[in-house]
Amino acid sequence: MNPVYSVIVPCYNEEACISETHRRLSEVMRGMNESYEILYINDGSRDKTALMLDDLAASDPAVRVIHFARNAGHQIAVSAGLDYASGKAVVIIDADLQDPPEVIPQMAEKWKAGAQVVYGKRGVRHGESKFKLLTAKWYYRVLRKLAGNAFPEDTGDFRLADRQVVDVVKNMPEHARYLRGMFAWAGFKQEALVYERDKRFAGETHYPLKKMLKLAAHGVMSFSEKPLLWPLWLGLVLLGIGAVVLLKVIVFGLLGYSQAASVVPMLLLLGFGAVLAALGVIGAYLARVYEEVKGRPLYVVARTLGFDKPTLPTGTRMKS
Ligand code: UDP
Ligand code: MG
Repeated sequence: MNPVYSVIVPCYNEEACISETHRRLSEVMRGMNESYEILYINDGSRDKTALMLDDLAASDPAVRVIHFARNAGHQIAVSAGLDYASGKAVVIIDADLQDPPEVIPQMAEKWKAGAQVVYGKRGVRHGESKFKLLTAKWYYRVLRKLAGNAFPEDTGDFRLADRQVVDVVKNMPEHARYLRGMFAWAGFKQEALVYERDKRFAGETHYPLKKMLKLAAHGVMSFSEKPLLWPLWLGLVLLGIGAVVLLKVIVFGLLGYSQAASVVPMLLLLGFGAVLAALGVIGAYLARVYEEVKGRPLYVVARTLGFDKPTLPTGTRMKS
């Protein structure tokens, strides 16, 4: 029998956190009085994480462990968890107790009341640098401008998702994974749950600036084609100004005024404008190629009526 809840916990060098995380998480899950499994994904840790997880699996029948052969990154670790999870609802939570497990029952309540994704929205954030808070705030604002308002602000991967939505995300085969965006893309009934984000229980962040920037780039580049078109718009503006200068050179030249001073700016505007516009045209095609390569489902069906087949959760690419 599939459990009601699967909890996915990605772990990378978390030896200092795992015991306490498992203790608090298990307490919360037991308190919910329904079946559950906890999936720990060891993302190629080099410390004692692997041993500790094996011990947990040996002593707790609710524990499942997936050991990666090497570090693949947080988003991939969570994706593996989604593949292996069998619960009716799936919870994604960090291993460092920054996302308090005690919030999970509230998420489950909202799920039972009909929400299909309950995402944790960070109210207060403890123990984060000013730099991180400020960049995160602006990043989500820019992302919403570029990719659309379906992307919730101040939201990480801490969430509960219904099986139906999990199956949709599993059917998005892209490698550049930005899971919070993929869940938003799926649609369905999504609700926020505001929570206080704690500071790390122990250890240090495994998201140095470089990984952070990579994730941020995935967010923009996997969900917006607008940047690829920017050169086109800029090029057209320059061509427009260049054309006005050209007209001026011709008219005033014919009237006998010297136009020598205008010729170089005019050529620069027309030249750069043409090059940028051409780049933008390439960008427009590239955006289409990228869209095809991503291979996402064309549409996501929430439910159907009047067919004798069971509802297919996703579009044409659903394998079944
Ligand atoms: N993590 C992972 N693989 C990585 C980096 C991080 O599985 O390559 C896990 C980590 O163990 C934690 C979660 O992802 O459970 C979030 O990482 P972290 O707390 O270091 O990031 P921060 O909260 O500082 O953004
Ligand atoms: Mg953390």
